[in-house]
Amino acid sequence: MTDPFAPGFVERPYWWDAAPPTIDTAPPLPDEIEVAIIGGGIAGLSTALELGRNGVKSLVLDREMIGWGASSRNGGALAGAGSLGKVRPDLADVLGKKFLQELSEESEGAFESFEALVAREGLDCDFVRCGRFVGAHAPKAMDALKRRAELINAAAGEQAFIIPKNRVAEEIATDRFAGGMVLHRAGSLHPAKYVRSLGQAAERNGAILAGGTEVRGYRRQADGSFVVDTSRGVVRARHVMAATNGYTGKATPWHRRRLIPVASYMIATEEIGEERVRKALPKLRVYGDTKKVLYYFRPSPDYRRILFGGRASFVDADTKRSGATLYRFLTDLLPEFEGTKVTHSWKGNVAFAFDMMPHVGVEDGVHYAMACNGSGVTTMTHLGTVVAQQILGGSNSISAFARLPFPTKPFYNGNPWFLPIVGTAYQLRDRLDGWRLRN
Ligand SMILES: Cc1cc2nc3c(=O)[nH]c(=O)nc-3n(C[C@H](O)[C@H](O)[C@H](O)COP(=O)(O)OP(=O)(O)OC[C@H]3O[C@@H](n4cnc5c(N)ncnc54)[C@H](O)[C@@H]3O)c2cc1C
Repeated sequence: MTDPFAPGFVERPYWWDAAPPTIDTAPPLPDEIEVAIIGGGIAGLSTALELGRNGVKSLVLDREMIGWGASSRNGGALAGAGSLGKVRPDLADVLGKKFLQELSEESEGAFESFEALVAREGLDCDFVRCGRFVGAHAPKAMDALKRRAELINAAAGEQAFIIPKNRVAEEIATDRFAGGMVLHRAGSLHPAKYVRSLGQAAERNGAILAGGTEVRGYRRQADGSFVVDTSRGVVRARHVMAATNGYTGKATPWHRRRLIPVASYMIATEEIGEERVRKALPKLRVYGDTKKVLYYFRPSPDYRRILFGGRASFVDADTKRSGATLYRFLTDLLPEFEGTKVTHSWKGNVAFAFDMMPHVGVEDGVHYAMACNGSGVTTMTHLGTVVAQQILGGSNSISAFARLPFPTKPFYNGNPWFLPIVGTAYQLRDRLDGWRLRN
């Protein structure tokens, strides 16, 4: 393979060219605050915004810059209940049809609320309701797609449509898919602009955003309030929220034992122009597939590049290596991009739960919203709001997700030593289904 990297190639999110996470001059920390939020991504900022709108003051603390985590690095592909069945085709058997229906309706509603939030707050984030195409990597995957489409349509009307193999070319210029599904209630945005404008909206509503401030731990007081220990001093808080998802560490060990952090990788191609992008992806949607080791991709918001992501490695790989692997995946799927250069390669952490479901709730007085399982832009925005409502309403959650137990495994301490084994098993499963790279 020829060198895929363009002159000036950078190992940094493409999104940060237009909206780098702000280098916060960390403000002085207050001695006391109503709510201390650990983690300045979508989840934490969404909670801060909703609290502020209801007159409750919060302090958002991030070890790095506000928005530095997955929230400014992701693919910017949005869906409602489509994300639910993605990793768990057996959900109806495990959860029961009625409960699954409730979760799906809430997830579809979360997409509608997301659109309303963007409009209400005037968030500058290049949001477009463009729809999503999911390609079937093998004929047998069509059955699972049909079940997912039924689930979505039962929750929210006719939004999901099955695409037979002979119509795949209308969606994408590849012969690799055996059919697919189109979701109409789905969209795209610029993630770094989104998290930045969400932070600004939270600030406008009175939240204090403190980057460069690591939370090291907290102690619960006899009256139920907290003393939060940070790298820049101690803060007393009536409530604490953990919103650290794929970067959860020792400060919140209960959550850490329930999350499997996994790196996800992305590349951006050089500018190839809208005509070539439209030739490959005629409807300019967001795209995914049904493989265990899945691909996700989309045009850039200006339609001049392709942004392509996936699990390029199951060990923590450097982003030059992962960039070369993703380039192979891209050119295998869309061979016309052979010779197109890569300008950016980056990675970020997502968090899986052992039951592959998102989680929200309260543990020992600490509120949390985490476990995005790879798709968290709408989910974490929604669950962040749910946490705010929990705090405002006295902890009685209005979310069906709060009724899910948050499982762990014996002896698991947050170190996912088993990921390379799982990764190899997933790759094998895709190969057995007939998926092999041709390049
Ligand atoms: C490459 C990639 C592609 C993705 N693509 C998509 C997609 O297309 N669509 C989609 O819906 N989702 C996607 N996701 C997932 C999505 O980005 C996440 O679900 C979402 O951003 C999670 O937001 P969050 O606020 O929960 O966590 P994050 O944005 O990760 O924020 C957590 C923050 O916590 C901070 N932190 C951790 N510990 C501490 C501490 N002790 N003290 C202070 N701060 C701390 C970290 O610094 C970090 O900034 C993708 C993720 C990645 C990485």
